[in-house]
Amino acid sequence: MREDEVRAKWLEEVANLWPIAKGSVREVKKKCNRKGCKLCASGEKHTAWLMTFYQDGEQSSCHVPTPLLATVKAALENGRKLETLMVQTGLELIKSAKEK
Ligand SMILES: [Zn+2]
Repeated sequence: MREDEVRAKWLEEVANLWPIAKGSVREVKKKCNRKGCKLCASGEKHTAWLMTFYQDGEQSSCHVPTPLLATVKAALENGRKLETLMVQTGLELIKSAKEK
């Protein structure tokens, strides 16, 4: 493959990686502030979702609204695919230079 073909293939494959995100998602249990909440009183609490990620070397997290959970999970899966794709594309770039 020539370098311009490697680039064209990269752009085509990256275009399909949407939604995208990097990090991980986990379930947490939270207390609410409602008075007399039976779930909280029972100690069971409420299910919430957090996306954990690194930014500038620091770990951080962000609340994920439940209706967005499937989208965020798909985004994280695409993020992993993107990393694999970058490795493959880098190798193809080097190979294309050797073939000149
Ligand atoms: Zn509650």
